[in-house]
Amino acid sequence: MALLVSDSHLINLFQTYKGWFYVMFTAGLLFLFVKRHLEVLRAAQQRALEGDRLKTAFLANMSHEIRTPMNGILGFSKILQNDEITPEEHNAYLAIIEKSATRVMGTINDLIDIAKIESGQMTIRSAETDILQLLEEVRQFFSPEASQKGLRLAVLPAESEDGGLPFRTDREKLFAILANLVKNAIKYSDRGVITVTCRHEDTRLHFSVTDTGIGIAANRLQSIFERFVQAEEGGARCVEGSGLGLAIVKAYVEMLGGSIGVESEPGKGSRFFFSVTSL
Ligand code: ADP
Repeated sequence: MALLVSDSHLINLFQTYKGWFYVMFTAGLLFLFVKRHLEVLRAAQQRALEGDRLKTAFLANMSHEIRTPMNGILGFSKILQNDEITPEEHNAYLAIIEKSATRVMGTINDLIDIAKIESGQMTIRSAETDILQLLEEVRQFFSPEASQKGLRLAVLPAESEDGGLPFRTDREKLFAILANLVKNAIKYSDRGVITVTCRHEDTRLHFSVTDTGIGIAANRLQSIFERFVQAEEGGARCVEGSGLGLAIVKAYVEMLGGSIGVESEPGKGSRFFFSVTSL
C-alpha cells in the first residue's frame, strides 16, 4: 500500500516535471521563433530604410546634376541670341554651353552604365592591350585639366624591357576605371601631385592613384563605393558629381577579376588601389 502511494506520488511528480518541461520547451521554441522573425523583419526594415535613403539621395543628386547644367545651357543659349554681345563673349558662352552639355551627357552615361551593370547586361571585351600606351593616354587626357588647377599629374609606368607592357584585359573598362579615379583626384584636390602607378606581378596588374587633396573621413571610406553615395551628404558639397563614379569603378574592377580599396587621411589626401587579372 505504502509502495502504491509512493508510486502515485512519484508519477504525479514525474507528470508535473514533464508538464513543466513541455511548457519550457514550447516557450523556448516560441522565443527562438519570434526572435528569428523579429531579426528578419528588422533586416527587411533596415533594407527598406536604406533603399529609401538611397532613393532620396539619388533624386537629390540627379535633380542637381541635371538641372544645374541644363540651366546653364538654356540661360546662355538665350544670351547668345542677343546681337549686342562681342565675339569673345560669344565664344566664352559657347564654351560654357559645351561644358554643361558634356556634364549632362556624363551623368546620363553613368546612369546607363549603372543600369547595365545592375541588370547584368554589361559585357567584357577582352583583347591584348598595351598598358604603357594606355597609361600615356590617361596622362595626355588629364594633364591639361590637372595643370589648369595647378596640380601635377605624374604617371609612373611599370618597367618593361621592350618598351611596352602587353596584357589581356578589357581596354575600355580599364581606361574608364583609371579615368574615373584620376578625375576624382583632380576634382577633390587643390594643390600638390596626383600620382598614378602600375606594377606587373605574374598574371596581375596592380594600380594606384594617389592625391594630396581633401581626403575622406574614416567612417565614409567603405560607403563611397555604393551607388549614389557621396562622402559629404546633406548639401555640404561644392563640387559636381552624381555619386555613381566609384560604384561603376568597383563593378568594372570586379569584372576584370580584381578588387579595389582606399586609404585616406582627411586634409592630407587619398590613395585608391586596385588590381586586375589577365583575362
Ligand atoms: P561623385 O560623382 O560624387 O564624385 P563618386 O562615386 O566618384 O561620385 O565618389 C563618391 C564620393 O567619394 C565623392 O562624392 C567624394 O565625396 C568621395 N571621393 C571620391 N574620390 C575622392 C578623392 N580622390 N578625394 C576625396 N574624396 C573622394
